[in-house]
Amino acid sequence: MPSLMLEVADLRKHYGSLEALQGVTFVVEEGELFGLLGPNGAGKTTLISILSGLLTPSAGRAAVAGRPIWEARAEIGLVPQDLAIYGELTARENLEFFGQLYGLRGTELRRRAEEVLEAIALTDRADQRAATFSGGMKRRLNLGAALMHRPRLLLLDEPTTGVDPQSRNRIFEEVRRLNAGGMTIVYTSHYMEEVQSLCPRVGILDGGKLIACNFTTKLLRLLPGQIRFRVPQVTEGLIQRLNDLPQVAWQRLDDGRFEVSAHDVPHTLLRLASVFAELGMEPTEIEANEPNLERVFLHLTGRELRD
Ligand code: ATP
Repeated sequence: MPSLMLEVADLRKHYGSLEALQGVTFVVEEGELFGLLGPNGAGKTTLISILSGLLTPSAGRAAVAGRPIWEARAEIGLVPQDLAIYGELTARENLEFFGQLYGLRGTELRRRAEEVLEAIALTDRADQRAATFSGGMKRRLNLGAALMHRPRLLLLDEPTTGVDPQSRNRIFEEVRRLNAGGMTIVYTSHYMEEVQSLCPRVGILDGGKLIACNFTTKLLRLLPGQIRFRVPQVTEGLIQRLNDLPQVAWQRLDDGRFEVSAHDVPHTLLRLASVFAELGMEPTEIEANEPNLERVFLHLTGRELRD
């Protein structure tokens, strides 16, 4: 059975009269890729800063691998939202600097820097100053700096901010590869597509509260998906068959168009296909929309996720 890598219990943080975290509780098991989704100002950076030991909570408890944060610092890698690399140092010097902070020395330090350069696809730029890098390359170096000491828990705070699509994909690939290698990852973002495609389980933070925490597939099942189709001719037989479909709601739009709402979109599409085949009917249009985390957020809060 996997053990708990991260435990957060009733965590609170005040900045003066503002309560940025209002009693947040969740756990992450060893080997998980856990997403933390929330709009700007939800408290994600505050939470990540506490989990990496940069901030002290006002109340509550956080533990990594069964130990309080200050005892578990060597197990934790932080990829901060604001770039933490030094522009006047080369990529290799940056990595060696961060490795030294965690006690790596000599051959081990140099070998590890080489491995990390390879992993973040910067080997060919290793000896150029970070200041000359593109936004995406700086982000990758920022990630590399957090990997030097081989942390068991990696905390990523909005790692794709200001990054072009190609570098974003490189970061995704690297995150997936690290996770497949056994690293536990907490990935925060306000981009729902990123979290939805990367993270099997997700916590949704809003106004300092965790308003949902579950498997992504389960959260998506909170809402039905929609299938719209158009048929050349509406017949009694079609209406009858639609009425007979279990766990489905449907309505007639205009002009032979229909909208079917169902929690299991692929299954419902298959059923509709057999209804059309049975009636010898060929739809002229068909379109399916599955729910996404953006709509789940809207459903839970009544607000859009984006500002
Ligand atoms: P973003 O993605 O915009 O960084 P976030 O979800 O990471 O948002 P936080 O940065 O944790 O949110 O901020 C949560 C709330 O706490 C916000 O209202 C913010 O203005 C406030 N806050 C954060 N840091 C401080 C601070 N040092 N002093 C006062 N208020 C702060």
